Amino acid sequence: MTDTILCKRCKKDKTKLAKPPFRNELGGTIYGQICSGCWDEWLTHQTLLINHYGLDPRDSKSKEFLYQQIESVLLNDKDGQDIDTSQKGDIEW
Ligand SMILES: [Zn+2]
Repeated sequence: MTDTILCKRCKKDKTKLAKPPFRNELGGTIYGQICSGCWDEWLTHQTLLINHYGLDPRDSKSKEFLYQQIESVLLNDKDGQDIDTSQKGDIEW
């Protein structure tokens, strides 16, 4: 059975995630609106954010920051914390 959703981010019918990525409301929202391809892209971006800001994903403040980024960037297509332009030299690739 292929499970597809109309992804809010890429606006295409794509494969949905196998399960919600988080056990909270946001996880359910992502599961219901974002395709697995876009989620994979987000995870790559998130790794950059974590490295750039030196975040500890187990830390609740870091988690909150990442959740906010997911809401604004992934779900609402807004500009997130910009890690690509002004502070480019600081990013460890
Ligand atoms: Zn998508």
